[in-house]
Amino acid sequence: MSEASGGSGDLGGFGLDHLPYGVFVTEGSAPRVGVRYGDTVVDVSSVRPQLDRPALDDLMALGPDSWAETRTEIAGLVEAEALPTYPVDAVSLLLPFTVGDYVDFYASLDHASNVGRIFRPDQEPLLPNWRHLPVGYHGRGGSVVVSGTPVTRPCGQRLAPGATTQGPPAPELGPSRRLDIEAELGFVVGVGSELGSRIGVEDFQQHVFGVVGLNDWSARDIQAWEYVPLGPFLGKSFATSVSAWVTPLAALAAARTDLPAQDPVPLPYLAPTDSTHGLHALDIEVEVVLNGEVVSRPPYRTMYWSAAQMLAHLTVNGASTRTGDLFASGTISGPEPDTRGSFLELSWGGTQPFAGGRTFLEDGDEVVLRYTAPGTSGGRITLGEVAGQIEPARIP
Ligand code: CA
Repeated sequence: MSEASGGSGDLGGFGLDHLPYGVFVTEGSAPRVGVRYGDTVVDVSSVRPQLDRPALDDLMALGPDSWAETRTEIAGLVEAEALPTYPVDAVSLLLPFTVGDYVDFYASLDHASNVGRIFRPDQEPLLPNWRHLPVGYHGRGGSVVVSGTPVTRPCGQRLAPGATTQGPPAPELGPSRRLDIEAELGFVVGVGSELGSRIGVEDFQQHVFGVVGLNDWSARDIQAWEYVPLGPFLGKSFATSVSAWVTPLAALAAARTDLPAQDPVPLPYLAPTDSTHGLHALDIEVEVVLNGEVVSRPPYRTMYWSAAQMLAHLTVNGASTRTGDLFASGTISGPEPDTRGSFLELSWGGTQPFAGGRTFLEDGDEVVLRYTAPGTSGGRITLGEVAGQIEPARIP
């Protein structure tokens, strides 16, 4: 497809080479599936029975052959202007799929190194397992919300400011004072896998339907007190925001690029990073926008582990997957200070204010994560943004 025939460059990143899926509702009608085209939502519910649904679940379960056929058919109908359209500002966008199990990884070498330096300044930044497996934890699928949903400042147990772990700890219950973001990418499972089976790295595209923007809101003070020894819990589970639009993997074909070198070479099930195994990075540029100001530009292409390796690791023990399972990359941070994907890193643990005196999130702050990538028509596509505004804690 050329730019002239509807590439994304002249349509704000939403041309025929993109066509992300979402679920929308107009006044007095039932929720149904649409695709974004320019500033419009195209109603595709008449194209397939699986699209006349309040979620993408049935489409996602069809598998890659049907995804490709459906995408081609929809592109033709959009180009022919044969389907009803609505201005995007005139519809409400809903959570696009039923979120199943949610896993969050930790796949950025720079992020993991920064966090290690901040929390364990006297030790090697990376723990011994980090270069051998994509570290992750199971999160809370039920608190995944669609972009635009307000985020209530969480309350929890945390130590008083300035308290150390020396002497008897004196935790308090109260609103988080160190509320943060994590700019991430999410991957959505379309076709699940049976208990006892594995998904090999080479089978990634048979299972994964598409990609969403994702903000893993994090309460650092709650997290710091609770996470030893079993990992993140209530400091993460109060809200995770995803974009309203799911970008099909096919729309990211031109964004594939080489993975950074992996040293040591991982075990065979995670496959060496040669092209024959189809492992690749994604050249997606991210912007972190705080109250209208870009405060960071994390580059997804620097991520150490590929999404295919994450899924292979997630299932290496025989864990099953289901339509709607969501796994996230972990915070995207590049090597430069202005490419860090969390306030924890941007303010270096709260010690170095950035963006005019900022350390962590204040009530009323709005964060928007924006994502762009090379499209298959030569321009750039715009992935779905992830927005959220902080509301005050409800429990003092
Ligand atoms: Ca995270």
